[in-house]
Amino acid sequence: MIVDLRSDTVTRPTPPMRAAMADAEVGDDVYGEDPTVTALETEVAALLGHEAALFVPSGSLGNQLGIRLLVQPGQELICDTLAHVARAELGAAAVFSGITFRTWRAQRGVLDADAIADLAAPDAGPYQVSTAAIAVENTHNFGGGIVQPPEQVAAVATFAREHGLGLHLDGARLWNAHVATGTPLAELAEPFDTVSVCLSKGLGAPVGSVLVSSAARIAEARVWRKRYGAGMRQAGIIAAAGLYALRHHVSRLADDHARARRLAEALGADPAAVPTNIVVLDVADAAGVAVQAAADGVLVSALGPRFLRLVTHLDVDDDGLDRAIDVLRPLVAR
Ligand SMILES: *Cc1c(COP(=O)(O)O)cnc(C)c1O
Repeated sequence: MIVDLRSDTVTRPTPPMRAAMADAEVGDDVYGEDPTVTALETEVAALLGHEAALFVPSGSLGNQLGIRLLVQPGQELICDTLAHVARAELGAAAVFSGITFRTWRAQRGVLDADAIADLAAPDAGPYQVSTAAIAVENTHNFGGGIVQPPEQVAAVATFAREHGLGLHLDGARLWNAHVATGTPLAELAEPFDTVSVCLSKGLGAPVGSVLVSSAARIAEARVWRKRYGAGMRQAGIIAAAGLYALRHHVSRLADDHARARRLAEALGADPAAVPTNIVVLDVADAAGVAVQAAADGVLVSALGPRFLRLVTHLDVDDDGLDRAIDVLRPLVAR
């Protein structure tokens, strides 16, 4: 048995999801004629309480389109030092959009509105780089799946409004924040100008993310998506997997969260520090643990010299979790 805890991206489509894909009605989405893509966009826009939505192949593209709508070339986006947009998108905002970054330090990625107010430089004048937008991540991936405190999000949103700054949400795992807190998705998404959500993480779709925003911004994003070469034709085949995931795989995220807490507890970490499906362990030799665990069929991610990340998801059941605990316990105890 292989137990793959490297990421929730490793899930494979289930048989009923594959059946929904096979049965999907399709058309040419570049002509706006794929009914399944349109249904997915309509449904996600409604769920998140924004006017319109755009289906994109990846969360990175959802983020990049959102950011480019809010920041002009030569302006900056600010985010925390661990943010996916800053660390894990290969400098795409610089390469494609001429955007620079500055970052604030955040303990486990938790938002601190005061740090943001200190860092931001709106209207910096003719010689300095002006901040045009702020990016927030919820849940926070490299922060260990933490859910952003609502009062901090509200304070950041107030600051952004007062200073005319755009606000982007990298909501790759916003579903997890919703299930962990019971807060409606629309409430989590409301303060933001643009929101990107992933269907291919814990929701288990093979491909796909969605960007939501105002109708005007989404019309602009549609042009940029095509310009980047990501206009998709009979994409209803994959959008159907996303629709299936929205109907069947959201509330079950609670199981992933419970398993992540059990995993943390069994490995000597604090389960109270595991609000969703990501367990971060501080170990002496993360790469060494990953190699040894892999030899016993348990895959984990070493994301830093001491930083081990374990992610629960649709394809890890209780037996898999027990197996992972048996293999990892002696390795992380050393
Ligand atoms: C996975 C992820 C993304 C997008 O990743 P893709 O591999 O491009 O789909 C964006 N933000 C966060 C926080 C993520 O975890």
